[in-house]
Amino acid sequence: MLKKKFKSIVLVMLCLFIFSIQIISAQSLPLQDTIIMVDPGHGGRDSGTYYGDILEKDINLEIAKELEKELTKYGAIVYMTRKRDVDLSSIYDSAKKRGDLYRRLLLIKEKNCDLYISIHINWYDDSTLKGAEVLYNSINKENKVLAQSIMNRFKKDLNSNRNIKTTDLYMYRNTTTPGVLVECGYLSNPVERTLLQEEEYQKKLAQSITNGIINYLKKTKQIKYVL
Ligand SMILES: [Zn+2]
Repeated sequence: MLKKKFKSIVLVMLCLFIFSIQIISAQSLPLQDTIIMVDPGHGGRDSGTYYGDILEKDINLEIAKELEKELTKYGAIVYMTRKRDVDLSSIYDSAKKRGDLYRRLLLIKEKNCDLYISIHINWYDDSTLKGAEVLYNSINKENKVLAQSIMNRFKKDLNSNRNIKTTDLYMYRNTTTPGVLVECGYLSNPVERTLLQEEEYQKKLAQSITNGIINYLKKTKQIKYVL
């Protein structure tokens, strides 16, 4: 009788142990089941800004792929608006750029995304200007919180002295899904131009954006992690 009782106590304890492991493993992924659209700007016929044969569209895609890896590592379900050097316009679009952006918006909606991140590279005539920065549209309350969370990480991780700004560009004023436009740095600045092409720096950018997203979700969804 005692033996039987002992056996059932052990069984209950074992169940509790397995259950607690499951809770811990679920908690250890702070982006678990968060659906994120990573949107590398430009592509195909649209190279974005450039310096000689260094094209913004190519660097955007490289950083976006690093970001996809990093977000997936933390449990997010990640989609990308493009994975190759293509633009999303159709042969029937009379305005190609508008068609391209419209389909990016459709993808964000279709995939039921919790948030999106557009990746771009900046250019300015004054080549001393540098630093990653985040732009947002005021269409909802979340965008500014997300922008500030990522900007805080850029200041901390990448020494950026830039600040968040608003944008009224077509893509960002036409979706209420939380999201921001990340300008990863200036192709016009010689030092940053070199850095932006390096895999190590691209990884650093991806980690910084990911940490910013995690901190944003902590603020808005009460998740436990702070990075
Ligand atoms: Zn761009």
